[in-house]
Amino acid sequence: MSKPSSIYLDYNATAPIRPEARDAVLRAFEVAGNPSSVHASGRAARDIVETARAQVAALVGVVPGSVTFVSGGTEANALAIGSAAFSGFNRVIVSEGEHDAVLETAAASGLQVLKMPLDADGVARLDWLEEALSDEGRALVCLMLANNETGVIQPVAQAAALVRAADGWLHVDAVQAAGKIAIDFTALGADTMALSAHKLGGPQGVGALVAGTRATIVRQQHGGGQERGRRAGTENVAGIAGFGAAAEAALRDLPSLANQGTWRDALAERVKAAGAVVLGERAQRLPQTLCLAAEGFASQIQVMNLDLAGVMVSAGSACSSGKVKASRVVEAMGRPDLAPFALRVSGGWATTEQDWISCGDAWLAAYSRIGARRREVA
Ligand code: PLP
Repeated sequence: MSKPSSIYLDYNATAPIRPEARDAVLRAFEVAGNPSSVHASGRAARDIVETARAQVAALVGVVPGSVTFVSGGTEANALAIGSAAFSGFNRVIVSEGEHDAVLETAAASGLQVLKMPLDADGVARLDWLEEALSDEGRALVCLMLANNETGVIQPVAQAAALVRAADGWLHVDAVQAAGKIAIDFTALGADTMALSAHKLGGPQGVGALVAGTRATIVRQQHGGGQERGRRAGTENVAGIAGFGAAAEAALRDLPSLANQGTWRDALAERVKAAGAVVLGERAQRLPQTLCLAAEGFASQIQVMNLDLAGVMVSAGSACSSGKVKASRVVEAMGRPDLAPFALRVSGGWATTEQDWISCGDAWLAAYSRIGARRREVA
């Protein structure tokens, strides 16, 4: 596939499909078999699934048997939280930066829900966690590896040590981090980890739950014995093939993606010079994510202005209905004043330096138009 023609800087919403993933999907469509069938076509489909399982496993440094394919990041989170709820855990601690896929699932789980606050840099407060873990009852702790709005990387390995000491279960939503930074599941000390194909250049509607030996995965839907009894239903063979190919390509491209940090920071300097604030700037962040806010320049007005200029970005928190709400994450960072003005710019595998520069040009032009209009009104 050629690079998208307009400027697409919304990879944290979904990444354009990588050529390797597209090819793998199309090749898989040529195979007629059900991976559970024992005949030759079935075995060919099984091979596709198992090749992809090894590719996804390699992305996070685990053995293939640790990977359960599901329909996406949302289901992976639900499978982990549902499994913990069935396994004798009676409370769930979620960071305030978690995606709705975690927050809403935790709220519906029947477990007692506790919210772990963020500091001003968008990092989860481990001092708070340590204290909460000392209370009665085994806890499931959900801490994302990187935040979808700010890109802030969370102290997962340190949290894992605390969770282990308290005999808890650490679930890590790595949907945004996977394919953007190196991940070693074992070194992080997580018990389960959610991944999603479409955030790293694979197809939408496929993901995986990675589980370590301490976690018992309890299937949440019943039927056939697919995925070693962890997830019933015929596998999405073509989607899984695309996921595997995208994971392999993303792992290969990690060093070049790291370079985007320089382009991202150059844009940050330009918008800051015009008066914008960069959220989470002092924390370690994904190299391709920028969350900025300029008072008086509402998120949706920014998105619309940039769209007119051919640049696609997201409001800090664009919910699935397409409506823009004030960013809950920015509020949790102690900046409710900036929450209605947050904008997320996120690049990826096909993004060029010029894309970041053009985004900056369009943003600065729109911001100065808004300023001029305000001065006229005043
Ligand atoms: N977790 C995070 C951090 C996300 O950013 C998203 C998607 O935006 C999800 C989970 C949900 O993933 P999916 O769209 O694959 O269900």
